[in-house]
Amino acid sequence: MNIHEYQAKELLSKYGVATPKGIPAMSVADAVAAVKQLPGPLYVVKSQIHAGGRGAGKFKNNPEGKGGVRLCKSEADVKAAAEAMMNQVLVTKQTGPEGKLVQRLYVTDGVDIAKEYYCSVVLDRGTSRVTFMVSTEGGMDIEEVAEKHPEKIIKVAVDPAAGFQGFHARRLAFGLGLTGDAQKSAMKFFAALYKAFVDLDCAIVEINPMIVTDKNEVMALDAKVAFDDNALFRHPDIAAMRDETEEDAAETLAHKWELNYVRLDGEIGCMVNGAGLAMATMDIIKLYGGTPANFLDVGGGATTERVTAAFKIILGDPNVKGILVNIFGGIMKCDIIANGIIAAAKEVKLSVPLVVRLEGTNVDLGKKILAESGLPIVSGDNLADAAEKIVAATKKAKAAA
Ligand code: ADP
Ligand code: MG
Repeated sequence: MNIHEYQAKELLSKYGVATPKGIPAMSVADAVAAVKQLPGPLYVVKSQIHAGGRGAGKFKNNPEGKGGVRLCKSEADVKAAAEAMMNQVLVTKQTGPEGKLVQRLYVTDGVDIAKEYYCSVVLDRGTSRVTFMVSTEGGMDIEEVAEKHPEKIIKVAVDPAAGFQGFHARRLAFGLGLTGDAQKSAMKFFAALYKAFVDLDCAIVEINPMIVTDKNEVMALDAKVAFDDNALFRHPDIAAMRDETEEDAAETLAHKWELNYVRLDGEIGCMVNGAGLAMATMDIIKLYGGTPANFLDVGGGATTERVTAAFKIILGDPNVKGILVNIFGGIMKCDIIANGIIAAAKEVKLSVPLVVRLEGTNVDLGKKILAESGLPIVSGDNLADAAEKIVAATKKAKAAA
């Protein structure tokens, strides 16, 4: 799960990560009122969307105008910036051409930047360790730095048993060439980030830019924080920060029904129970020359309602040209799946070929329910047969269209 910059900074500052003072604003009036609570004389009005590259981004209604992060010198400036951003669509490198609607703003204290750096904390799956990545190339596109100047990215992995130590902090600070007060401030900063990352079950914390101020203080000027969804139950306060308007509608619906859904760019929708079977199903679709439109694991204890929701999610993707349902009825019974498919087909017009392969508990009852439904459902005898049938049916449907 992702959160907004202002929420990330609020959480991080509780751990002692220094950030400029800032106030979230849900309206232009809020933004103007925030000015009185900030020291001035400089203010920065920042569009809050779940995407980076806001500063260099452009608003759809004014592509020649300024971006989604604006420096302001007065209350009137702040008002004008807020008016230009609120309820407008911001397009950045990360939003895709459709952009994102700005519905929240963050008004922050404008700070004097001596230098910008890059700092992130991630879980490195290769070493299974929480790993810091820092670079002197701050404020820039880090993917570009990684590609062109990999030597400019310093990585420090932390042993989970020993935790974050002074030498980690020194290695990072020295790596960035920091000395004196800036070095001390950076070491405190890194230790605070590590504690926040571990305590809050983060998946990523990215500070770009991390800055050194003219007073040699290290601060987070931007903050992107994402959480491990599987640990969110431990953090109800963080779960409450979810902004559904920022999320893919299908993924929000999947989350609500506890379905593991990942949208992909192929054309055969898959509904499967069990992550391993879902992976195998995607593989076999590829083997027969098709491309999966999604990963969808309905899990073990699905109800008719959940299966209906899963079916609706798949059919909601305009790229889907065929659906393969592959269920092994162990805990999940085949007749429940069959009823779910029929219920969903009644609600959403089934306009694409559907191949169903059922196996396991109540399989005969499930097949009977489908056969008597009057729907044009093709039955697959086994996984290979089902994959071959859906790939062929999808090709045929596309050729006819
Ligand atoms: P994004 O990464 O989405 O473009 P940032 O928060 O990184 O947004 O802001 C872009 C740039 O704006 C920063 O690299 C920094 O130069 C400037 N900036 C952001 N916040 C402040 C601030 N509080 N004071 C001064 N400059 C800022
Ligand atoms: Mg940034």
